Amino acid sequence: MDFTHSERAQELLQRLQTFHAERVAPAEEPYLRELMDRDDPWVVLPVIEELKAEAKALGLWNLFLPNAEYGAGLKNIEYAPLAEQMGRSIIASEISNCNAPDTGNMEVLLHFGSDEQKERWLRPLLAGDIRSAFCMTEPDVASSDATNMEARATVEGDEIVLNGRKWWSTGIGHPNCEVLIYMALTDPDADKYHRHSMVLVPRDTPGVKVERMLPAMNFLDAPGGHGEVSFTDVRLPLDHVIGGPGMAFTIAQARLGPGRVHHCMRLIGLAEMALELACRRGLDRVAFGKPIINLGGNRERIADARMAINQARLLVLQAAWMIDTGHPEMLNAVSQIKVAVPNMAQDVIDMAMQLHGGGGVSNDFPLAGAWAVARSLRIADGPDEVHRGVIARLELAKYGAGKWSAAKG
Ligand SMILES: Cc1cc2nc3c(=O)[nH]c(=O)nc-3n(C[C@H](O)[C@H](O)[C@H](O)COP(=O)(O)OP(=O)(O)OC[C@H]3O[C@@H](n4cnc5c(N)ncnc54)[C@H](O)[C@@H]3O)c2cc1C
Repeated sequence: MDFTHSERAQELLQRLQTFHAERVAPAEEPYLRELMDRDDPWVVLPVIEELKAEAKALGLWNLFLPNAEYGAGLKNIEYAPLAEQMGRSIIASEISNCNAPDTGNMEVLLHFGSDEQKERWLRPLLAGDIRSAFCMTEPDVASSDATNMEARATVEGDEIVLNGRKWWSTGIGHPNCEVLIYMALTDPDADKYHRHSMVLVPRDTPGVKVERMLPAMNFLDAPGGHGEVSFTDVRLPLDHVIGGPGMAFTIAQARLGPGRVHHCMRLIGLAEMALELACRRGLDRVAFGKPIINLGGNRERIADARMAINQARLLVLQAAWMIDTGHPEMLNAVSQIKVAVPNMAQDVIDMAMQLHGGGGVSNDFPLAGAWAVARSLRIADGPDEVHRGVIARLELAKYGAGKWSAAKG
């Protein structure tokens, strides 16, 4: 078994690390501080556009997209170490145009968009000129079961009419957010997986209203943020539906696979960042006559964190390789990392916070924000329990249980 990254991945990783060390890391803290201190954080500060231009010029751009015509043409397994590197920072993904939810939305447009939709929305998204949001989750129904969605997308002649309320629409606060992908019920009489549609909604269409922005564990995540959005008699030409009415679930399957793997790849980097801070703090700070790292069980905690990160990384790489090769156990592997990685990251970051004492829960270190990200992703990427349900069903199917018993997993 060969664990080395491809030459291209190694070369890109080296360049990304240099760019981050020399340009991104020094800019990050002052940038976040300035944003936090502003009354209005829903702005694009010039440093972000400057760094984006530099990343683009260096070829550190659209690395996530396996399609070589539109993106870097990397396999998922090649992208994994790059996403991990970007995951160490809050801003690095955006600077390389590799941030959620735009990456998933771009994949949808690439695979299911018409030529006109690609020209109007995919091109500026790939260029980093605009941003996007994905509006599926609804406040009034349990959205971990996506078949529950009640918001409407009704076909009327050559128009589609949207009515409903969404929340947790990530990115909607960004000043450059110009397009939303809205998922809603079109035909209640169709079979469960052909009732819903995905519609491209220009952000400034009459009837679209951001009711409020939602802090996640008191972090606004500005300037993209997460919003509650109402759609009231929003009328659009029928050609704004992606892939045609009733296609939402077919598209969602494609959208959520690689996109969710990216979150896990980035979380490995976030956990690495936390472990590094824990080691540095533990070695530097002295209590009861010893470096904190030598007190109690702290060295064991460091060792446990190292093992947990390495195990999770291997699981992520295996899932990436399975996606690349169309392996029959791909669904199982992807479900496993969606549970294992955010939980691992949450635990490692929590340990690092504890070693930092009061500093760990302050905003002077990136740990409290990192913890909120990992904790939120145990819900945002689909709740742990839903993924565990998939893993258990596939496991038990081996013993003839359930309707998946004939399926391989
Ligand atoms: C920070 C953040 C960003 C987000 N970004 C987006 C976005 O950009 N676009 C978007 O559309 N949505 C987004 N979401 C929403 C997210 O996808 C949903 O919150 C998630 O799918 C769960 O839906 P729900 O909140 O309705 O929880 P519910 O469906 O009400 O579930 C609540 C709880 O019920 C339990 N549960 C559910 N199913 C099972 C099961 N099968 N077995 C056992 N227990 C179960 C779990 O404990 C679960 O957490 C985001 C959420 C967060 C927190």
